[in-house]
Amino acid sequence: MNADYKGLMVFAEQREGKIHPVSYELLGKGTEIAKKLGIEVSALLLGSNMGDEVKELIYYGAQKVYYIDNPVLRDFDVLNYKHNICRLVNEVKPETLLVGATHLGRSLAPRVASALSTGLTADCTSLEVGDEGNLIQIRPAFSGNILAHIWTTTRPQMATVRYKVMQKLARDASRKGEIVRKDAAIVDSVLKIVSKESAGGVNIAEADVIVCGGRGLKSAADFSLIKDLADAMGGVVGCTRPIVDDGWVGKEHQVGFSGNTVKPKLYVAVGVSGSPQHLAGMRDSDVILAINADPSAPIFKVADYGIVGDLYEVLPKLTAEAKRRS
Ligand SMILES: Cc1cc2nc3c(=O)[nH]c(=O)nc-3n(C[C@H](O)[C@H](O)[C@H](O)COP(=O)(O)OP(=O)(O)OC[C@H]3O[C@@H](n4cnc5c(N)ncnc54)[C@H](O)[C@@H]3O)c2cc1C
Repeated sequence: MNADYKGLMVFAEQREGKIHPVSYELLGKGTEIAKKLGIEVSALLLGSNMGDEVKELIYYGAQKVYYIDNPVLRDFDVLNYKHNICRLVNEVKPETLLVGATHLGRSLAPRVASALSTGLTADCTSLEVGDEGNLIQIRPAFSGNILAHIWTTTRPQMATVRYKVMQKLARDASRKGEIVRKDAAIVDSVLKIVSKESAGGVNIAEADVIVCGGRGLKSAADFSLIKDLADAMGGVVGCTRPIVDDGWVGKEHQVGFSGNTVKPKLYVAVGVSGSPQHLAGMRDSDVILAINADPSAPIFKVADYGIVGDLYEVLPKLTAEAKRRS
């Protein structure tokens, strides 16, 4: 431990000037940890002309926001982001630095950790405070067979944390905090943005409705039944791990311990038994509907609504009804 380092800092990710919700989740967890340790929670935001959006970080729990405003920082430029974060961290010396395990965070955090000569635990699913005030960084390891508890002897202790596993605080516009503006130090970068295009593809973590297919389906071709229902409900498709292992759909659709954590408004589990590894990724969904032929399937224990039946009979009827109502 190094007494020069104090407080917990959250790297506040923004895209197109909008703060990514994972930053609010990290502030929620950060506030809980800070209360236990009697320390301050701050946020570090890099962007350009973000206006009132900066205050949102305070409304979600930051006691102080370090804001580095520069046109070069409007978009993610990994060299300039790394350089400015390291400068600020070396000045403020937070004991802990949390980063969302998004595409951006996964690219940025290792570079920052390396430049700061400190340790980094990637893709945490839980954070706790140890007896000596250390941050216990918990993440699945060895293909998800164990939950590793890791702590860092160097400072700052850095972790990336999965999106949608931590709880954000309720937004409270009466929360008070300080915004500290800092100058940017811009370095030559090899990156030049010529144009922006959507990568397309599925973002299952953001979906409001997910229809998830499991091994109750008999063939890859039958997965179209899942897609049909998802389309009719304006949702996206998810799947269990065996479906990915068999190559029926891509890993980006996998829900569970070694896949995505999701919290949609509606989760429809079709031919899914409800293994602990699957439940770990979806049990916090607002409403869960399970369709399974076996009335003793564990998925019914977490489901709000259940249909005991053959998915090949149930799905076409549900899809037809969803289409009729849309
Ligand atoms: C380290 C590790 C990590 C893992 N990570 C994940 C993960 O991230 N996500 C994940 O999902 N799994 C994960 N798994 C795998 C997990 O243990 C289960 O094997 C998997 O979730 C089971 O998938 P399933 O429910 O599709 O299949 P099954 O368990 O085989 O269940 C199929 C279900 O379909 C029902 N069914 C069959 N026919 C019909 C029909 N005609 N109509 C209706 N219902 C029918 C059956 O009653 C059964 O309940 C992991 C395993 C390990 C060891």
